[in-house]
Amino acid sequence: IGGHPKGGDRSIRPASVRSILAIASGKGGVGKSTVSSNLAVALAKAGQKVGLLDADIHGPSQPRMMGVNARAASPDGKVITPLQAHGVKMMSIGSMMEADKAVIWRGPMLMGALQQMMSQVDWGDLDVLIVDLPPGTGDVQVTLCQRAAPTGAIVVSTPQDVALLDARKAIDMFQTLKTPILGLIENMSLFHCPHCGEETEIFGHGGVADEAERLGVPLLAALPIDLETRLSGDAGQPVALGEGAVAEAYARLADRLVQ
Ligand code: ADP
Repeated sequence: IGGHPKGGDRSIRPASVRSILAIASGKGGVGKSTVSSNLAVALAKAGQKVGLLDADIHGPSQPRMMGVNARAASPDGKVITPLQAHGVKMMSIGSMMEADKAVIWRGPMLMGALQQMMSQVDWGDLDVLIVDLPPGTGDVQVTLCQRAAPTGAIVVSTPQDVALLDARKAIDMFQTLKTPILGLIENMSLFHCPHCGEETEIFGHGGVADEAERLGVPLLAALPIDLETRLSGDAGQPVALGEGAVAEAYARLADRLVQ
């Protein structure tokens, strides 16, 4: 994950962060946050210094997925101390707000929150900062690309047509903003029934691989629908912490990105 120290005059890119990885999706519910937390953990397991910034302003799920309930603190009222979980430094808009409160923020406030989480958090030296973006192609994505110059973006999609159509818009946005697309991840493709052993392609199969080929970018991983992934995410213990097949897939993904 090479460095890419840019971001223009109005850069919000923290100087001590070597690379920024944006995790995106065309629509919600495809597993973008699940992939973000598991990739963060897998990279930390591989010896990288990792930060996870939950920029999914309207649905911040990283406090739950990483198992962090604490509020973010700022001892001097200026610099925010990031939270820590599973060897990863973490900051989420959810850790700055009251639980169960709807966010009805408009553009400028969203930008303020993103800027604060990028440049006022004491991230320290990081090899990689993973940014869990909101779904779609809104203000947060554009600001991140223009002012933080991510090293690259990874787009998560299910193989289902409607998800792929939206993913294509996200891909188009990154191309327009000149953010390199590192690859696509297919999530929730195959379901392996633990009872009868049968494999079912619940959201179809192959669509994301075809899309990656069309774009000339790698398919970085194909992850199954997996009960353990869902349960461990809900329990704040990402599945990548363990040792099963899904954890191995995340370990391979982390290795591939580090090279
Ligand atoms: P998004 O960030 O795209 O909105 P999430 O990561 O929040 O999606 O995932 C939506 C729901 O689907 C969560 O409950 C999560 O635990 C579950 N989920 C995500 N990926 C998988 C998977 N591969 N297998 C089973 N459940 C998954």
